[in-house]
Amino acid sequence: MANNNNKKTGFNLGWLYGIIAMALLGLYFFSGNNEAPRRITYSQFREYVQKGWVEAVIAYDNRKVELTILPDSVGAVLGQAVADEYQKEKRSVRMVTDAGSLESLDEYLNTQSAEGNFKGELIYKKADHLFTGFLVNVLPFILIIAFWVLIMRRMSGGSNSGPGGGGVFSVGKSRAQLFEKGKGDRITFKDVAGQAEAKQEVEEIVEFLKNPQKYTELGGKIPKGALLVGPPGTGKTLLAKAVAGEADVPFFSLSGSDFVEMFVGVGASRVRDLFRQAKEKAPCIIFIDEIDAVGRARGKNPAMGGNDERESTLNQLLTEMDGFGTNSGVIILAATNRVDILDKALLRAGRFDRQIHVDLPDLNERKEVFGVHLRPLKLSPDVDVDLLARQTPGFSGADIANVCNEAALIAARSGKKAVEKQDFLSAVDRIIGGLEKKTKILTQEEKRTIALHEAGHATLSWFLEWADPLIKVTIVPRGRALGAAWYLPEERQITTREQMLDEMCALLGGRAAEELFTGHISTGAMNDLERVTKQAYGMIAYAGMSEKLPNVCYYNQEEYGFTKPYSEATAQLIDNESKAMIAEQYERAKRLLLEHREGHAELAQLLMDREVIFAEDAERIFGKRPWGSRSDEILENDKA
Ligand code: ADP
Ligand code: ZN
Repeated sequence: MANNNNKKTGFNLGWLYGIIAMALLGLYFFSGNNEAPRRITYSQFREYVQKGWVEAVIAYDNRKVELTILPDSVGAVLGQAVADEYQKEKRSVRMVTDAGSLESLDEYLNTQSAEGNFKGELIYKKADHLFTGFLVNVLPFILIIAFWVLIMRRMSGGSNSGPGGGGVFSVGKSRAQLFEKGKGDRITFKDVAGQAEAKQEVEEIVEFLKNPQKYTELGGKIPKGALLVGPPGTGKTLLAKAVAGEADVPFFSLSGSDFVEMFVGVGASRVRDLFRQAKEKAPCIIFIDEIDAVGRARGKNPAMGGNDERESTLNQLLTEMDGFGTNSGVIILAATNRVDILDKALLRAGRFDRQIHVDLPDLNERKEVFGVHLRPLKLSPDVDVDLLARQTPGFSGADIANVCNEAALIAARSGKKAVEKQDFLSAVDRIIGGLEKKTKILTQEEKRTIALHEAGHATLSWFLEWADPLIKVTIVPRGRALGAAWYLPEERQITTREQMLDEMCALLGGRAAEELFTGHISTGAMNDLERVTKQAYGMIAYAGMSEKLPNVCYYNQEEYGFTKPYSEATAQLIDNESKAMIAEQYERAKRLLLEHREGHAELAQLLMDREVIFAEDAERIFGKRPWGSRSDEILENDKA
């Protein structure tokens, strides 16, 4: 397995503890007066007593007799050389023998002391088993070590949980699962349904892994890492595996939380180990699931203290990513649902500088996912993929896989020969029951609201000169926002007031459409409003863009400064100006929407039917964008 052939390098914490344990045991055996007593015969014992060499006698109830030789007599018993040694170390010589009976011993010693040969004492003791003595002294150590081993195993998830979990001695090893090439099922893009854009983005990575020279010969730089961003179950792991499968390279898979342990230094050492292994297998792919477990932004305020272990793990990860050259052939794919909480350093150029969005599937994509997962099932002819896809809005790929499996189980339970439509519908109901807790399934009414809202954004962005041109809009829920819209943002170094106002207006288009066409407003616009509010305050307090407060910037460099650099009166003014600005743009949004209400309604209906619309749809409905498409110009310039 992956770890076993690499024992030579890498400092291992486990060994350190092993060595300490050995040292403790050694200390016990080689220190103190614990040398085993010399064994003699009973007649030798009598001889020594008679000659007056014996200092003290201990008689045990199991007839064992222990005696100590008088220091002066050691030479006579064992020879002068040995005696000197004992003298030097100030030790006494102890011996043992067996008495026939304790009475005869008592009698013998009595006569000897009467004759003046034995001046010492006779002490009776309970037999103290040699082994018991050993246990009493050593057992605590053994227990402590055993306890420690147990804890270590616990923490590394047992000794047989995958190749990395080798118990105590592999704490610092990476716990990545390795999928060698050519072993097991090879997953390819065919297994990933939908996600056309994501696949297209990773295509380049596959190309590079297959054929690195083509790129490096031209001096091109290959991305070291890409971040797959999206909710759980949307196929991020699957996509990463497919990249490895397409390129036919080994695939290391692990979760961000695998790095994090209670012990300081373990995470960093695991990162090091992982990269070392990966370099040996290059070209290859490392996939880190839930990278936010290590990649969360490092503490900004040192006084608050931070999670040092996580930070040092993150630092190590950054170092490793910088450390290997772009041409080493190791590509890191990481998955997360929360890019916003990731440390900015991770997203910098040369690290995870590209983000690939892997979103919940829309209607057509759900059909494709069903296609993949229905393949292995025996279906009755009444199963209609189209209907199934319609019945499962908001489901992720994993949920759909679950539906198919559940349907098969339900069919099997009632002894059917093939899975029928009703089985699927029951399965959908069951999964929705389970899902409701984590994701909200949309009602028809909600769906309409979202469609109107998103169509509102889309309509305004079409008609506002400076709003970012629309690429794609879906009503598949995404994070806190209701639907999601993709726009092609212009790269701008400076932004004019007009541009910012247009952006605000387009952002307010969602809420405005809700108010105009459903009659009520909803929480669905919260995300938009947050951005609008920030933008308004920014324009007024920082960019000096309001008429009543022209050309002032109250930007405060200190992150934790609690004092505002302006007066109460100015604060009031900023508030008023922001409110007025937002109100003005909101009115403008409503005016524009009413002006184009037919087009907006058509767009919304299309969204309800298809769950996704593209720029072409908007163009068909509204006609060519009045401002031409600046994005085309930009792309032209890029090529030039
Ligand atoms: P993530 O890593 O995004 O949480 P996974 O890749 O682990 O999701 O997906 C879990 C399972 O869901 C996959 O093994 C697969 O069976 C199914 N699945 C998810 N997305 C898709 C998809 N686009 N096409 C086919 N199956 C999918
Ligand atoms: Zn919105």
